[in-house]
Amino acid sequence: MSKRIYLDYAATTPIAESVWEAMSSIRSQAYGNPSSVHSEGRIARTIIEEARKSVARHIGASLTEVFFTSCGTESNNMILIGAVRDLGVTRILTSPTEHHCILHTCEFLSTHHDVQVEYLPVNQFGQIESSALSSSLEADKNQKTLVSLMHVNNETGVVQDLVELGAICRKNGALFHSDTVQSVGFEKIDLNVMPLDFMVGSAHKLYGPKGAGFVYIRSDHQLKPMLFGGGQERNMRSGTENILGIHGLKAAIDLSDETLEGRIEYLNQIRSYFRNALRVVSNEITFNGPELSGYSPKILSVNFPPGPRSDLLLMHLDINGISASGGSACSSGVETPSHVLSHLNIPANYRTVRFSFSTSTTKEEIDRVIEVLISLYKS
Ligand code: PLP
Repeated sequence: MSKRIYLDYAATTPIAESVWEAMSSIRSQAYGNPSSVHSEGRIARTIIEEARKSVARHIGASLTEVFFTSCGTESNNMILIGAVRDLGVTRILTSPTEHHCILHTCEFLSTHHDVQVEYLPVNQFGQIESSALSSSLEADKNQKTLVSLMHVNNETGVVQDLVELGAICRKNGALFHSDTVQSVGFEKIDLNVMPLDFMVGSAHKLYGPKGAGFVYIRSDHQLKPMLFGGGQERNMRSGTENILGIHGLKAAIDLSDETLEGRIEYLNQIRSYFRNALRVVSNEITFNGPELSGYSPKILSVNFPPGPRSDLLLMHLDINGISASGGSACSSGVETPSHVLSHLNIPANYRTVRFSFSTSTTKEEIDRVIEVLISLYKS
């Protein structure tokens, strides 16, 4: 059986060899409870604090602004809920193309708390126009507002300019949060340049283990915890720390520090190779996202025109050993476009597939995917 081709790295990544080695290397010494004062506890504590240094350095934050969590979902929930509960936020501006961990939390807040949630209009690529953000902020200056806009969209790979959007928020006195789950490790993030109050990360998206994430909270904001107990993470998140996971997150962050430029360049090559090659499958194929800039090199969202097997494209790819991801939700047997794609004017009879790449994706793999797509389309 030939090797499977995994092109779903935006869903999750395998653990990189160097990350795995780093995790294995501490396995036998890192069993202590970091809250214990004895030697084993202190070793575990040191591992956590070293990881905090790596994350803080990577994003340009201070050590006291980084807290470890279990994942991106938890981090995003912590910020939105905390901003309303502890910072007096009464209005949230977000977009309809955010991840569900933002949208569902906003729904919860508007239903159970006195919070007004507004969805900014998006352009044909699903991006916020800066003028729309400015007008919404200027239209209501009386309420304390949190703006929550993602950096890289997980379905389309479209990137939003956090420097520009953040500057608008600052000018209008609004807090600015970005769901940076898809960009940490793949885009240069520097909080000295990006005016963000809150951001997040999740190890499993950048070749680290599942179950480890972080949240950045700018030092001027005092959020209260969501989890109460032993007071870990300087009382921001109780619960015994996931030392192996946190060390894996550190190793994944360090790996991206060492390789970021080459990683971006390689992913760009693979993405454009694939994008160009898709023309031989059908010249009616379209793409979600701008052509020349403003996209993440790790994601290509492709709209396939109707064809003999286009309705079950993902299943046929899977049968042929290729893992990709769909942009539709199937409820009651009826396929409907995802909440993100439904904002992009994709013709109803087109099928969208998200292909996402890693530095181990090869041109040979892409050639094989094209071969399979040709066979599905032309036979
Ligand atoms: N935000 C975005 C943009 C994502 O792509 C994901 C995961 O798919 C999440 C948040 C949730 O992250 P996690 O799986 O770490 O909870």
